[in-house]
Amino acid sequence: MRNLNHISLYTFTVRAIHSQVAIIGGGTAGLNVSAQLVRDGHYIPQQIRVFEPYKMHAYQTGWTLVGAGMCNVEKTMRPMEKVLPKNVCLSDCPVVRIDPEQNTIVTMDGQKYTYDQLIVASGVQRDFASIKGALEQLNNPEAPVGSIYYYRYAQKIDRMIKEFEGGKLIFSEPPSKCEGIPSNIVFLTHERLSAKNVKCDYHVYKANDSIFGIPKYSEILGELAHEKGLHCHLKKRLVEVQDHKVIFEDVETKQQYTSDYDFLHIVPPQKPAAFIAESGLGDSDGYVHVHPNTLQHVRYANVWALGDCSSLPTSKTAAAVMAQTPILIKNLIRTWKFKQSPLPEYQGYTSCPVYTSNKKVLLAEFKYNKQLDETFPVFQSSDSKVMYLLKKHFFPFAYWQLMVRGLWGGRDGIRLFKGV
Ligand SMILES: Cc1cc2nc3c(=O)[nH]c(=O)nc-3n(C[C@H](O)[C@H](O)[C@H](O)COP(=O)(O)OP(=O)(O)OC[C@H]3O[C@@H](n4cnc5c(N)ncnc54)[C@H](O)[C@@H]3O)c2cc1C
Repeated sequence: MRNLNHISLYTFTVRAIHSQVAIIGGGTAGLNVSAQLVRDGHYIPQQIRVFEPYKMHAYQTGWTLVGAGMCNVEKTMRPMEKVLPKNVCLSDCPVVRIDPEQNTIVTMDGQKYTYDQLIVASGVQRDFASIKGALEQLNNPEAPVGSIYYYRYAQKIDRMIKEFEGGKLIFSEPPSKCEGIPSNIVFLTHERLSAKNVKCDYHVYKANDSIFGIPKYSEILGELAHEKGLHCHLKKRLVEVQDHKVIFEDVETKQQYTSDYDFLHIVPPQKPAAFIAESGLGDSDGYVHVHPNTLQHVRYANVWALGDCSSLPTSKTAAAVMAQTPILIKNLIRTWKFKQSPLPEYQGYTSCPVYTSNKKVLLAEFKYNKQLDETFPVFQSSDSKVMYLLKKHFFPFAYWQLMVRGLWGGRDGIRLFKGV
């Protein structure tokens, strides 16, 4: 028998792993930033670490078309290792805590990481669970309830449209991060069912007080909705889903209304990940509190954020991410490598393309303070076939072929030259 006195006891201390740049999230923003940092030669890939728990990268924009039966879900997903720049380090455990005073990150498995610069790009969480009964109906294959906000529920929406034989359709929207996205599935469902002559009664319930936050587009979409016989109910929030019955609440009076339905599309409320607020990086709503024009954190000069998780007061879209990325990178390099002040260049540019049918798109483009910022004004006074071609065919190509290589500059076109 072994003599226990001779056994040496070791204590294992997990050593922190250092990266010059840590990026939390390998979604649209995390991928775009890492691709441009590498492409522009600011860092060698091995100095960049991306934290992303999902094995597959999702082109979420494509889920609208999955729901509308215009695209296979496989076309909206690619393995992470195929889209991340070569040799960038990947940690596939979710981040649970950041200590911005000590420049450290902790992942769920307890591993510690340190960084010189931190970019938070963790998107938003889709909170279906906050609507009573919603998940139960969404997960029930027999229940006519779906959503383009998750790929499985988007596939369900496609099946629901195919099988729909007539009745009352309800589309619900909470206060939305991008008001254009939910309208897509309303118009595309209308188009498909009209083509089959199915007798339908359409109702759109929005928590917001207008059809779209920008008056010009609100008017255009309002007229189209009227022409197509869609009934819009404003300031109404979905609070409960039951079998063929929904309960809405008036956002001001709190009075509740009940309605039956034969088809229900739910847009989930969206919220930032809890670790942001718990790490002291959040604003009052829990979004990463960054300067609206520089994208630098308001308290920590080496912390940055972009995309859906940021406090940037604009409509949260992939198009906004494309505009934010080069500005964030420029400011990060300026402040860190050249010890210069960040430039206040981001003016809130965002874009919401809305399919008004399966032939036309209304391209809404605007910036802070609801100001229009249109690239193709000739084609943006109404819905247009040219914008449809751009949205349906060119944007997915730009995403998968140019963006992941750091070559896509959004509306600035192809990035052939270094950004800084
Ligand atoms: C149905 C739908 C249609 C859309 N249509 C359009 C459109 O037509 N045009 C447009 O411009 N935009 C559109 N968008 C919006 C666009 O997809 C988002 O704005 C964009 O994906 C935001 O990028 P992001 O990187 O901030 O967030 P995401 O792309 O959501 O990426 C966030 C990533 O962070 C990861 N993450 C989260 N928590 C952690 C953690 N704790 N640790 C590590 N990683 C974490 C997540 O796994 C995720 O991969 C659409 C979105 C949806 C859902």
